[in-house]
Amino acid sequence: MIITKEYFKKLYLDKFQSMHGKEITEATPMDQYLTLGAVIRDFISRKWIASNNTYATMEDKETYYFSLEFLLGKLMNANLLKLNLGEICTEALEELGIHLDQIEELEPDAGLGNGGLGRLAACFLDSLAFLQLPGHGCGIRYKYGFFEQKIVDGYQVELPDNWLKYGNVWEIRKADKAVEVRFGGNVRLDQADGRTLFIHENFDPVLAVPYDTPIVGFRNNTINTLRLWSAETTMKDFDFSTFNRGDYLNAVKYKYEVESISQVLYPDDNHLEGRVLRLKQQYFFVSAGIQSIVRRYKKHHADLKYFHERVAIHINDTHPVLAIPELMRILIDEEEMGWDEAWEITTRTISYTNHTILPEALEKWPIDIFQTLLPRIYMIVHEINERFCSSLWQKYPGDWNKIRSMAVLSDGYVHMAHLAAVGSKSINGVAKIHTEILKNQVMSNFYDYYPHKFNNKTNGITPRRWLLKSNPKLAHLITDTIGSDWLQDSKKLQQLEHYAHDPVFQEETHRIKQHNKAALAALIQDKYQVAVDPNSIFDVQIKRIHGYKRQVLNVLHIMNLYNRLREDPNLDIHPRTFIFGGKAAPSYYMAKQTIKLINTLASVVNQDSRIKDKLKVIFMENYNVSLGEQIFPAADVSEQISTASKEASGTGNMKFMMNGAITIGTLDGANIEIKEEVGKDNIVIFGLTADQVLKYYQEGGYNAWNLYHGDSRIKTVLDQLVNNFLPVGPDEFRSIYEGFLYHNDEYFVLKDFSSYVDAHNQINQLYNNRYKWLQMSICNIAHSGKFSSDKTISEYARDIWNIHTIPIPDQPMF
Ligand SMILES: *Cc1c(COP(=O)(O)O)cnc(C)c1O
Repeated sequence: MIITKEYFKKLYLDKFQSMHGKEITEATPMDQYLTLGAVIRDFISRKWIASNNTYATMEDKETYYFSLEFLLGKLMNANLLKLNLGEICTEALEELGIHLDQIEELEPDAGLGNGGLGRLAACFLDSLAFLQLPGHGCGIRYKYGFFEQKIVDGYQVELPDNWLKYGNVWEIRKADKAVEVRFGGNVRLDQADGRTLFIHENFDPVLAVPYDTPIVGFRNNTINTLRLWSAETTMKDFDFSTFNRGDYLNAVKYKYEVESISQVLYPDDNHLEGRVLRLKQQYFFVSAGIQSIVRRYKKHHADLKYFHERVAIHINDTHPVLAIPELMRILIDEEEMGWDEAWEITTRTISYTNHTILPEALEKWPIDIFQTLLPRIYMIVHEINERFCSSLWQKYPGDWNKIRSMAVLSDGYVHMAHLAAVGSKSINGVAKIHTEILKNQVMSNFYDYYPHKFNNKTNGITPRRWLLKSNPKLAHLITDTIGSDWLQDSKKLQQLEHYAHDPVFQEETHRIKQHNKAALAALIQDKYQVAVDPNSIFDVQIKRIHGYKRQVLNVLHIMNLYNRLREDPNLDIHPRTFIFGGKAAPSYYMAKQTIKLINTLASVVNQDSRIKDKLKVIFMENYNVSLGEQIFPAADVSEQISTASKEASGTGNMKFMMNGAITIGTLDGANIEIKEEVGKDNIVIFGLTADQVLKYYQEGGYNAWNLYHGDSRIKTVLDQLVNNFLPVGPDEFRSIYEGFLYHNDEYFVLKDFSSYVDAHNQINQLYNNRYKWLQMSICNIAHSGKFSSDKTISEYARDIWNIHTIPIPDQPMF
């Protein structure tokens, strides 16, 4: 059915009146927003039901992607695009005096994730629905998402992200699908019919209530489901039993404790905080998720024996690894299966992605805490460990060191990555180099033992959000040039190669880039009252603030450039605007000081009239998905400068590339594959290689003082951190200074400084040759299809999950 503007208007007006009981002329912006959400949901609901029915009755497999984080961003415009209602809706609302882009402003940015890992999960859901694959998300409905960042006097201040304040137009609460999750208590053994029974008693019950969000396929009929769990007390426990015993205050405290499980997202990225509440969160959503999957399976299938032929469960990092013992528990304790059969099914169901090799991020939990919180799960983990260690003993008799290094339980800890490796059928890294480091270094013992389990799946990003939605002008130009096939197959972007040297196409891409830069400049002017020149090079580093990502390397380079400009204000460089964005974990002092340093430097540089506006520095507060959508399309240069070996993949690098920015980067993560795709002349590489970095860590031999004394540029900029050059107290940046010199520069910033400066000089030269620059830019766009999450997800579907395209039949609209 073709939807006309008139018809859309009628739907909207009817919906408005039935929801708000007043005339449209009296609508507040929030009324307008909520009404549009409801109208779009009506377009989704029939397809959603049809998708669920198709999946429930088919004889094929479904995937569940378990993740503690889903960084979705806003959904309104994205859903309109996918339903192909964008134009009709914009025009219909305009006639009612409503501006769609103003409505979108009101939508909260769903920030249920920290950064790359959570955004990956969101891109994967998008691609699953696009590819018409039966794949769903499972996670936690945090009441408070990732904190909102404000900059006050140059420092980061954290505010709660109360994203559900005005309700959530996309979710549907499914109270009838709630399940119980059990914590604490003890396990009593009993015998019945020759079987040992494990009876979990005296536990604290928590009610897990699912909220479902539709994941809309792009211009197809598929609607998959993101199921997020919320922790509640059962009415029975709260109102009656406890309350009636007169223990009112304890009842309130109990309710508070239960609800705290889904209260807040932990704001740590690549760092383990180790709080019990975090472990509770992990078991909470994993247990609820698996219980609901088993329940759904049993509705349509009699025998659990074939579970792994109908269900694939993927764990995004080790956070959901308790899926392994939880599935074992259900199969053994509730379904009365024997250990061996349950283990066979579990290890054919579950697959695992490793996201980091940083030692401080590897999850391990003290056994006593684990056992107290999850007594039955601990017994199962213990048994898994016993059996695994005895099979290791068979293969490596007497090699206690090796066995200890691989055990799930050792040194008083549960090692979550080891549990994941033992209990899943597939272990993948997220870029070629990362998978190689896993195989040859970090998990080499596991690779020797289980070589068949290891594989690579390089991360990707969805072109629907990161090109079509965020950069509509570029998307239109691409369609006008090569047709619209690229929307169905991102590989087709390669056809743009033919236009890389075409002056007309070059000028069009240039015009669009300048338009996007002018829009970002206007935003910067509006928010920070700083004038940045759209003709300057927009050089951007937006990502979490972290030592290994080396924002300070960027800062030292800017200080050096500033010093050169002060010496010679006529220095022949193209004007630069350095743009930063990113949040620091609230407990990560060095990262927070890095933010203060960037803002301090910005305050000095931006006010210095001597340098003739050749240099500007901007820190944009509260980097999130929506801000990213405004920044990536406006970037000329993409800063991907992590210490080689430390950035598992990166996905920000791919978003920049897809929008035509040139990467300045180390040979780390997916940068290496970007270089392979575009060729060495269309990327600027600098710095130590991963092998060199790993060699330094193993053999020593690095001395930061030698670099300080041997390179006057380094000495000058480091001294400027502590000698009153910056308008702060003398000790403000002492910890950063000491990190370089007294802690021997853990991330090799000083080592890479010189080649980084050279790389930036190269960027300057390249930019000054407009023809060359645009050719490079177009080449990057043309090769970005390789980093579409559609490609990544096709490979997961084929190699790991064994799921297939399931087209959903057309539905009558109303
Ligand atoms: C893509 C993205 C990230 C990941 O960026 P990296 O540069 O790969 O670390 C983090 N946060 C947001 C909001 C993103 O969109």
